[in-house]
Amino acid sequence: MSQHIGSTEDTIVALSTAPGVGAIAVIRLSGDDAIKICNSVFKGKDLEKQATHTLHFGTIRDGEKVIDEVVVSLFVGPKSFTKENVVEISCHGSPFIVKQIIKVLLAAGSRLALPGEFTKRAFLNGQFDLAQAEAVADLINSDSAASHEAALNQMRGGFSEQIRQLREELIHFASMIELELDFGEEDVEFADRDDLKQLINNLLKVINALIESFDLGNVIKNGVPTVIAGKPNAGKSTLLNALLNEERAIVSDIAGTTRDVIEDEINLGGITFRFIDTAGIRETEDTIEKIGVERTQAQMKKASLIIYMIDLANDNVVDFNRDINKLENMGIPFIVVGNKIDKAQPELKAAVETVKGSILIAANTKENLDALKDRILEEVNLDNFKSGNTIVTNIRHYDNLLKTRNALQDVLNGLGNNITGDFLAMDIRQSLHYLGEITGEITTDDLLANIFSKFCIGK
Ligand code: GDP
Repeated sequence: MSQHIGSTEDTIVALSTAPGVGAIAVIRLSGDDAIKICNSVFKGKDLEKQATHTLHFGTIRDGEKVIDEVVVSLFVGPKSFTKENVVEISCHGSPFIVKQIIKVLLAAGSRLALPGEFTKRAFLNGQFDLAQAEAVADLINSDSAASHEAALNQMRGGFSEQIRQLREELIHFASMIELELDFGEEDVEFADRDDLKQLINNLLKVINALIESFDLGNVIKNGVPTVIAGKPNAGKSTLLNALLNEERAIVSDIAGTTRDVIEDEINLGGITFRFIDTAGIRETEDTIEKIGVERTQAQMKKASLIIYMIDLANDNVVDFNRDINKLENMGIPFIVVGNKIDKAQPELKAAVETVKGSILIAANTKENLDALKDRILEEVNLDNFKSGNTIVTNIRHYDNLLKTRNALQDVLNGLGNNITGDFLAMDIRQSLHYLGEITGEITTDDLLANIFSKFCIGK
């Protein structure tokens, strides 16, 4: 019924759920012979005679020996993820059972899937484009609401659609110009140069927006890099611990003991913040700590947000004002946090309060911690994270967008210099090439191998 005679596609098999012990594990088969192979080790109904999208209870056997009771889901191609025949075997989640089942399936004629091979087949069979296939990987790896949303949006084709439309308009122009070339000597212009210029400018606008969205996309994917800075003993580790709600950094009474840069993540309102706990921004004589301080300053430059902590009990207004000055000159968004409100010196407290958006807390008793969390969230522009905006999260797409931009710029320059149609066509083709590589209209084996090898086996 579903066999394509003469097809050369192997049937592949892999565990598709996470390895390890679980209530259920799912083993997936894909390929022309998927149903036949499963049927040969399955005792229950004749799977080859069943309709697509049906479930069947039975046993998987190694000869006469029962390995497990399973439920088999049938997806007859092309109505499946890969558009091939797909069988999903839900068995008990024991690594031993999984191994035994895969073993008999291999013996019955399938082979182990390579990393990402299911998704690669889905792409090659036209299930979705390349950018969407990559979004499948991003979706699997997403660990916050925001990164999940960006990946889901891309998987549904939000990003691809924009690129495809631009590409089509450009193809139209390229063919007009190439038509001119066919007419050789005759001085005809089918492609209106002003219209072309307008189109390129529109394209550049969209591409620039996509390029700019990458910074945000990166933040969504990898978390907002946040530095907690302040003098030794200001309470930075205590705050970090309070935020993480567990004892991950060393808290100590001795000034300057937080020497290592420790990274940790928290999730606030669906957004991941990657905290970098640091040793302080004060100059110091101690060499070990000095390394910490240098590293802190390097980290601070990488941060998207600085939480500057001042010790209300032990600091002084002069140093505070100097530090605020430094922070303002860095040009990175920062939140001033006055810590140890329980032992605050009135003059310093008043100075902190004059800074816009500052917050007073007691890190050790978690007083006002929720207000601080709200302030942190306020600092990232939440509107950017709402769905609907196309956000580029993938470095490969970003790279191709940069190349496209350069190529389009060449087209514009060419138009400005009245270059001949053949050169113009070449530059346009170059832009088309880079755009096509994003969605996979243009691919090479190397590119595909590179993309799909980053997937896990079974995806
Ligand atoms: P760091 O060097 O900036 O990381 O500072 P720590 O987090 O190690 O804190 C230094 C000391 O200040 C520790 O003894 C903390 O218990 C104490 N501390 C932290 N927060 C507060 C606070 O809000 N009030 C008071 N009184 N002490 C605090």
